[in-house]
Amino acid sequence: MAGLAGGGNPAQSGAMDIDAALIEAIEARRDDLVALTQDMVRIPTLNPPGLHYRDICELLSARLEASGFTVEMIRAYGAPADSDRYPRWNLVARREGTAPGDCVHFNGHHDVVETGHGWTVDPFGGEVRDGRVYGRGTCDMKGGIAASVIAAEAFLAVCPDFRGAIEISATADEESGGYGGVAYLAEQGYFDPARVQHVIIPEPLNKDRICLGHRGVWWAEIETQGRIAHGSMPFLGDCAVRHMGAVLAEMEATLFPLLAGKRTAMPVVPDGAKASTLNINAIHGGEPEQDEDYTGLPAPCVPDRCRITIDRRFLIEEDIAEVKSEIGALMERVRAARPELRYEIRDLFEVQPTMTDRDAPIVRTVEAAITRVLDRHAEFVVSPGTYDQKHIDRIGRLKNCIAYGPGILDLAHQPDEWVGIDDMADAAKVMALTLRELLA
Ligand SMILES: [Zn+2]
Repeated sequence: MAGLAGGGNPAQSGAMDIDAALIEAIEARRDDLVALTQDMVRIPTLNPPGLHYRDICELLSARLEASGFTVEMIRAYGAPADSDRYPRWNLVARREGTAPGDCVHFNGHHDVVETGHGWTVDPFGGEVRDGRVYGRGTCDMKGGIAASVIAAEAFLAVCPDFRGAIEISATADEESGGYGGVAYLAEQGYFDPARVQHVIIPEPLNKDRICLGHRGVWWAEIETQGRIAHGSMPFLGDCAVRHMGAVLAEMEATLFPLLAGKRTAMPVVPDGAKASTLNINAIHGGEPEQDEDYTGLPAPCVPDRCRITIDRRFLIEEDIAEVKSEIGALMERVRAARPELRYEIRDLFEVQPTMTDRDAPIVRTVEAAITRVLDRHAEFVVSPGTYDQKHIDRIGRLKNCIAYGPGILDLAHQPDEWVGIDDMADAAKVMALTLRELLA
């Protein structure tokens, strides 16, 4: 907005005063921000199996009710892994403004992955040291949830008369696909564009980066089939492992070079993920592996089955039908040289790539807020792997969605995970200025 000749723009200077008040309100809540992060980290919401989901939802529910939100606790009955022993609890909190307008939704997953080895601090202690909060889930992503709560509370204190609505959700199972969390809520209409217009997922992408989306995924199992026979007379059988060897050789010769040559215009980080990729997740053929305490010998058999699981990550420029037919064509090339080969390809899982438009309202608003708070230009990135945005996009049909939050992505799932207190406060400021721009 350019100032009019001969004087400043009153709307702009008003917004700047409000922004200064918001930044001050967040600075005043720094201790609260740290304490809320610690409180969440001390609830070990491990997934799998899905522990203490109800406890963390209750903690946030009490907190947000006290801030004037209407809170719903939603269990994903019947979702994968939901059981009475490990119920998949989610929380959705909504605070209405005083006039109609858009709804801005912050969605964070409350589950964390196992701790693993190598910790020098208590993974569930929430220790504060050198300006950081340590513990499993600090960075991924309880620090991000805390930043969004503080941002909303600071905004409500500075701008009590706002239009539209603010929503904060804490959801289950992102680490295991999100089916008991965001996917379930999306199916229930919680991400219907008539209800919610802007979504920020505070995953740890760094406070100056906006993540627009992610690559696509196709998981499949390829099975080569042969015929069992006595291992002393392999010529009487047909070895499925040798067939698979030919499949792998064909992949090395033609598929991997082809994939490496496909480059996307999406700003995927790290750079290696700007190409199409394929991981061979597992291979198995022949006699099942015995328990470690088995002391006998194998039995001589020609393997009649060999299976690999492939994890193909594809680009927005690729079509999933094309991705699948690439593998189909490869198998046919192998069969041309091995007429006795029989095979099956089984689909396991697929996710379409998604990328929010660079000019979408939430992108432009957060970009401007980053410049204002951090005095630098935002970097735009796309994630190599997927996260809950896939459900908001595909089931919720809501496109105006980004991931933006504090924390260094590389620390996620590592020992001695931490989140910087300054980073949380800065991200909260960016979120609060975003609320001001969209709702005040
Ligand atoms: Zn995460």
